[in-house]
Amino acid sequence: MSFDVEKIRTDFPLLRGNPGLAYLDGAATAQKPQCVIDAVSRFYSEENANIHRGLYHLSQAATAAFEHARERAAAFIGAREPRECVFTRGATEAINLVAASWGGANLREGDEILITHMEHHADIVPWQLVAARTGARLVVAPIFDDGSLDMEAFAKKISPRTKIVGAVHVSNALGTVNPVKEICALAHAAGALALVDAAQSSAHFALDVQDIGCDFLVFSGHKVCGPTGIGVLYGRAEVLEKMPPYQGGGDMIETVDFAGTTYRGIPGRFEAGTPDIAGAVGLAAALDYVAALRPHAQAHEEALLEYATEKLLAEVPEIRIFGTAKEKASVISFRLGDVHPSDVGMLLDTFGIAVRVGHHCAMPLMKRLGVTGTARASFSFYNTFEEADRFVAALRKIRGMF
Ligand code: PLP
Repeated sequence: MSFDVEKIRTDFPLLRGNPGLAYLDGAATAQKPQCVIDAVSRFYSEENANIHRGLYHLSQAATAAFEHARERAAAFIGAREPRECVFTRGATEAINLVAASWGGANLREGDEILITHMEHHADIVPWQLVAARTGARLVVAPIFDDGSLDMEAFAKKISPRTKIVGAVHVSNALGTVNPVKEICALAHAAGALALVDAAQSSAHFALDVQDIGCDFLVFSGHKVCGPTGIGVLYGRAEVLEKMPPYQGGGDMIETVDFAGTTYRGIPGRFEAGTPDIAGAVGLAAALDYVAALRPHAQAHEEALLEYATEKLLAEVPEIRIFGTAKEKASVISFRLGDVHPSDVGMLLDTFGIAVRVGHHCAMPLMKRLGVTGTARASFSFYNTFEEADRFVAALRKIRGMF
């Protein structure tokens, strides 16, 4: 089957409605296909009720839709059972949940949390918070200049003190694809747990938590063409079952008495309060949509990355690309001579090209690269070679202005 990108684009109302726009910021958030918008709209039009509480038909239909979404999420990442998937607001909340709940219960003074130098702030700050509470220490594995992880150094940083390893699967700022399977194996050999931040990878290629061998994996719905405000924490059932609640409130309890409270099993124990039910329903539609396009969508993104990279290097004077690791997803972080990335971003916008500029929530990584920020074009499966051409041509013009 060939990949007909023009046909795919007709699924996206925002792209259809803005033919002059080259949206190259999928790494920040993906555009939404009609089926996702319809799923959310249909839920509110036809099934809206609160879940897990009502005996009436509508509430049961809403509960079924929510739990069906959990099944779809579990299938999307290859989880053994749906109850291994906790709905959260996104990747950020999922990591905060693990750090606060698992970390709060298990970390002690002198323990170490090992992360990489290319983590998003979402996989740094929650660990710093729990480290400050428990006396544990954050240890950082270095990267090479090309943006790949120094695996030898990583292995040396793991010790009996390491209690958990957190690693980004695909760097949002560089595109680097990390060997998460190897990372998880190293963590387990030392008796540590492993968390994979799949916020970016979930948008680019198929995930299989059992093959990766992780204990936790997190992703956000909005980066996989789903709604904002919904995401997933995958946790191995045996690990989740031993974790204390993250937040307290309705729906996460078995019994409440002023003398004490008992909690539901997993995943309900971690889902206090009314969740984003419509978001979960929209997420399920998005995951099914994206999964059906793979692996052709992935091959298309890889071709776009190769094409745009070669063209940039050949045609744009003084372009410098950050992140040239061999294993790389379709993210191009760059600087254009001494032009400030903010100027590049604003001028690209005048050409109808949307890219992200700044530190990409990876300030320690930027410091390591010796810059305060970069401009970043990220290519999704709905982007075209023509958009890549326009992007390169616009950068040539911008370079000529300075
Ligand atoms: N991790 C990575 C690698 C990301 O790129 C992002 C978002 O850009 C996050 C975590 C946080 O995702 P969210 O803001 O959806 O919680």
